[in-house]
Amino acid sequence: MSEDNGSPKHITCGKFSGHIENVSCPICDFPPDPKLVFKSSSGIGIWLCPKCTIMYVSPRFTEKSLSQIYESDAFIDQSFYDQWSYEKWKSENKGRSYISQHLKIRLIKRFLTEKDRILDVGCGTGLFCLEASKQGLNVEGIDPSKMLIDIGRKTFKIPLHHGPLEDFDPGYKYKGIVVWAVFEHVYGLINLVNRCGYLLEEGGYLFIDVPHYQGVSNRFKTSLCRTGFKKDDFKHFGFPWHIYSFNKKSLSSLMRACRFDPVLFEFWSHLLKNGAKGFFANIMISLTQKLALSDYITLVAQKKEQSRFQKPPG
Ligand SMILES: [Zn+2]
Repeated sequence: MSEDNGSPKHITCGKFSGHIENVSCPICDFPPDPKLVFKSSSGIGIWLCPKCTIMYVSPRFTEKSLSQIYESDAFIDQSFYDQWSYEKWKSENKGRSYISQHLKIRLIKRFLTEKDRILDVGCGTGLFCLEASKQGLNVEGIDPSKMLIDIGRKTFKIPLHHGPLEDFDPGYKYKGIVVWAVFEHVYGLINLVNRCGYLLEEGGYLFIDVPHYQGVSNRFKTSLCRTGFKKDDFKHFGFPWHIYSFNKKSLSSLMRACRFDPVLFEFWSHLLKNGAKGFFANIMISLTQKLALSDYITLVAQKKEQSRFQKPPG
């Protein structure tokens, strides 16, 4: 956003501050007038694109301001990373994170074999790569955070690359790329998906997990915020870290805009992720899947083959 004097506007949002910018739908070339879902007390709006139905934040922190926030003391608790160890993480995450990894690995194994090359984009310290390789998958990771990659390299014996995805070109292609909880953070969303397309073999698979604004808990919290019963400025959306939230239609639109075919949607309930068992839990898990009620959507999309876009010879 620019003020009359041309200098970018600066705002404070909770304990973070920085310059902001106005944006439109990240998917549609000619987006129609967006619908305002919510405006926070700091002036940050959550908008819905009526065409592709993605929810996005505008104005939002500029990418430069957000990277400064990520590096600030208000965000990084350096002592947490200084004391981080795999054993400590494992003892604290016997539940949800651990079971989530197994669900994801099981999903990948429905599409890929153990010899297929897989890249984990936004791998952090490489926790998913480690578990996936323990279960026989041929996986590498990449992350823009040098700090996280350095921790991973010191701790695990798996290939972890450091740097932005747009500069990464290993000289070979992957059969699968996983992007768990990444899309909702990314400023150049279309560029990221296109880059994944570049790094994938034809017919390769993209495995995605993103926030789902039509999940039952997200819908409930949104209603409370809109009606004024909840005063936390739409905290459940996850701003400033999250700048988008999706539903099935918007995720499909994004995939098709980047020449991917959506192949399979999954809706994993918290009960499933927590490993709940029993008659009641099974019914709830099944209902959440069938009615798409979970607060995250998981999608498998397949890269379209080049021949489907090229004119036949002659
Ligand atoms: Zn749109």
